[in-house]
Amino acid sequence: MGFSAIIFLFLTLLWLLSMALYIQKFGGTSVGSIERIQHVADTVIKTKQAGHQVVVVVSAMSGETDRLIGLINQAVDAPNLREYDVLVSTGEQVSMALTAMCLSAKGYPARSYTGAQAGIKTESIHQKAHINDIDVASLKAALAQDIIPVVAGFQGLSEEGEVTTLGRGGSDTTAVAIAAALKADECQIYTDVDGVYTADPRVVPAARLLPTITLEEMLEMAGLGAKVLQNRSVRYAGRFKVPLRVLSSFSNNPGTLITYEESTMEKPLVSGIAFNRSEAKISIFGVPFKPDVTAKILQPIADAHIDIDMILQNTTQDNSCDVTFTVNREDYRRALAIVETTAKELAARGVSGDNKIAKLSIVGVGMRAHTGVANKMFTTLAEEGVTVQLITTSEIKISVVIDEKYLELAARALHTAFDLDVSEPTEEFDPVVIKK
Ligand code: ADP
Ligand code: ASP
Ligand code: MG
Repeated sequence: MGFSAIIFLFLTLLWLLSMALYIQKFGGTSVGSIERIQHVADTVIKTKQAGHQVVVVVSAMSGETDRLIGLINQAVDAPNLREYDVLVSTGEQVSMALTAMCLSAKGYPARSYTGAQAGIKTESIHQKAHINDIDVASLKAALAQDIIPVVAGFQGLSEEGEVTTLGRGGSDTTAVAIAAALKADECQIYTDVDGVYTADPRVVPAARLLPTITLEEMLEMAGLGAKVLQNRSVRYAGRFKVPLRVLSSFSNNPGTLITYEESTMEKPLVSGIAFNRSEAKISIFGVPFKPDVTAKILQPIADAHIDIDMILQNTTQDNSCDVTFTVNREDYRRALAIVETTAKELAARGVSGDNKIAKLSIVGVGMRAHTGVANKMFTTLAEEGVTVQLITTSEIKISVVIDEKYLELAARALHTAFDLDVSEPTEEFDPVVIKK
């Protein structure tokens, strides 16, 4: 072999070693118009020009999934879930094809893939299927031919060959699962804010952008309502240690990196505040006390496949007890009807329900080593005149249920009390309009 051939081989090897594989996922706002999709194509092309490979994952254009669900609700009261998934998965197929067209037109050959074509195999459940496995053969074949695969997020195929969807926000999980299966160098979740903040910047204007967040904290934040990442995507990332970054498709900032190492630096007591408005509260009171009374109340709820989040039971002096629990708002009417029937059977004094509640949580690994965090939380809320209705805690979080109308006030007050505010509140986000 001649000297120049050796140099050539050496350079090729160097080039191959420096070539990274990125999964780039673009959310609804990021593909919300043709102009935005052109911009997505430019972002992907920049990564290609830097010598890297890219697999693109796209969400439906913003508002499209809600529009499709609205159509279903207009059509029938109780949709067939197979048809539901067939319909709502079309949103992603529009954006995948448009994105692939724009990339190809700019001189970078691309091909769109439905979840099924991308080999995404899920369990046989509609509306919130888990991904079981990904057969990456078709994606690998495209990459080998230097074709950019553009995959529809949020959808897969069950073993029976049915279209399934992965739950709201599920395109994040598609991206993370593909990153795990292809052992990508980084999974980049492009969205409409600069990364993960100490709280939703649309609600807390003084929220601070976090350059890094531990997996543990991100898991809690996502599980407690910070929808910047779908809860399941964070769990999936943790299981396979997927390098995961959240960043903006509107700016060039590095965003937030999810870290897997425990930092040795002293952590703030509270590193973030999360909330959700998706729960409702049901109470049954004056139930004659017996050891199995809570089980008797909750069993019919479980039988109806309704998930319960928080539970509170207290026994009163007259030897009766009250039980309060929260369910998803979508299940509220159904759960209330079930409890009303149970109340009659158990000779309870009454039942009440409230679906205008919010669950507000503070999260921080620093809480482990310190006491007084709960007290500070309750004092701050009391000073603002906010009544706490339910409480749950874990090692690194405290959650309270409050009246929904005080949510903004309470979130901002806690953010300030736990020293999370930036000195210059961001002007970018409308603090009043909350994106659903
Ligand atoms: P996408 O369509 O890109 O998937 P989402 O609407 O699902 O975007 O998630 C991004 C939104 O998450 C932001 O616009 C913001 O309002 C909200 N959000 C909630 N909590 C946080 C947080 N802690 N940090 C950043 N964004 C948050
Ligand atoms: N389009 C789906 C939704 O709106 C999935 C996603 O955006 O991640 O929930
Ligand atoms: Mg999302």
